[in-house]
Amino acid sequence: MNEYCEQPELLAAAHTGEDYSQQLGSIAPPLYLSSLFACGTMENYTHSNPGSFIYSRYGNPNVSIVEEKVAALERGKYCLAYANGMAAASAAILALAKHGGHVVCLHNCYNVVSHFLDGFCAEKLGIETTYVQGNCFEQIEKAIRKNTFLIILESPASDTFSLVDIRRVCALAKAYGIKTYFDNTYCTPLYQKPLQLGVDICMHSATKYLGGHSDTLGGVLVTDDEEIYVALHELRPQLGNILSPMDAWLITRGLRSLAVRMPAHERTATAVAEMLEQHKKVRAVYYPGLKSYPQRELMLSQQTGNSGLLSFEIDGALEDAVKLADSLKAFTLGPSWGGYESLVIMPLYSYSEEHAMLCGASRGLIRLHCGLEGTQYLIDDLERVLGEL
Ligand SMILES: *Cc1c(COP(=O)(O)O)cnc(C)c1O
Repeated sequence: MNEYCEQPELLAAAHTGEDYSQQLGSIAPPLYLSSLFACGTMENYTHSNPGSFIYSRYGNPNVSIVEEKVAALERGKYCLAYANGMAAASAAILALAKHGGHVVCLHNCYNVVSHFLDGFCAEKLGIETTYVQGNCFEQIEKAIRKNTFLIILESPASDTFSLVDIRRVCALAKAYGIKTYFDNTYCTPLYQKPLQLGVDICMHSATKYLGGHSDTLGGVLVTDDEEIYVALHELRPQLGNILSPMDAWLITRGLRSLAVRMPAHERTATAVAEMLEQHKKVRAVYYPGLKSYPQRELMLSQQTGNSGLLSFEIDGALEDAVKLADSLKAFTLGPSWGGYESLVIMPLYSYSEEHAMLCGASRGLIRLHCGLEGTQYLIDDLERVLGEL
């Protein structure tokens, strides 16, 4: 797999959005912990120029650095940064929402997105959602109605990492005048560029790989569509969910090493997935980077790499899977992913067996995040606990 990023990406992560001459030569950007900015004149206050700041609920120099970097990484025109990934996701859905409208979404989307659709959006906005298997184009096509305004996509999608044929679904959406929202958190902009494949709004939880150190929350939306950008830009200070300067500073620092971290996560996850695939106590492995992956051709046509996140099912009872998750030492038991540390969780455990199956696996699914502690260390730990089953 392509381990090396292209020059524009390396430069974007390192330098885009930063100007040493504007910060007394300081190599690291100053942290602008200021709620307001001196405007000088009423003219400046009422007709502020792009790039000038008034109040940090609207914009802040540290937030702008993140936005410029992520826009460059995604090769998109506009980027807006939010307090976390869900703030970005809900802002995108609200900005496009049509009262009484209809949404198509994946069964295995990030689960809080479906809670938002089924709860607030259904109850307060009269929005109906049809859930589909993202790897089945015909289901997506069949789900479209006259009042469908949005298709919510994620690929590789949460927990079982099934792929959506992004070009084909976006072409379908365009033919019907429907907007597409795409969660690109898994691949990062290095390994997939959804806007170039036809997506209207691309979202990231910057809490994961963009921040990369498990010490910050953030979210971003990137779009080439000016109308969408204007709607999002107007809504953000009303919802009041902009990224904070401190979190922006940490994400800026994280972005600088993204291009060296991702290939390391990928190398380790590939080796771990290959080991699990060969193990007699393992029933199934879900990792799009495996040579045996059922959607390999599609993966190669839209991604240039995979991340450190994978999942698997053991040949055994649910209690055995729980025991395994509890017994791992190199993998800390906890939610989230994308940091330096290896993690384990059973993301479908609290679902009904039927709901878990719709997400592509059983309740016993074990998700691993392969961190940066070294491949053999993780493999040894997994072999140890699998051997104890
Ligand atoms: C974590 C995550 C989110 C939500 O992001 P937060 O920063 O936790 O709000 C959305 N989508 C995916 C795929 C995620 O993993």
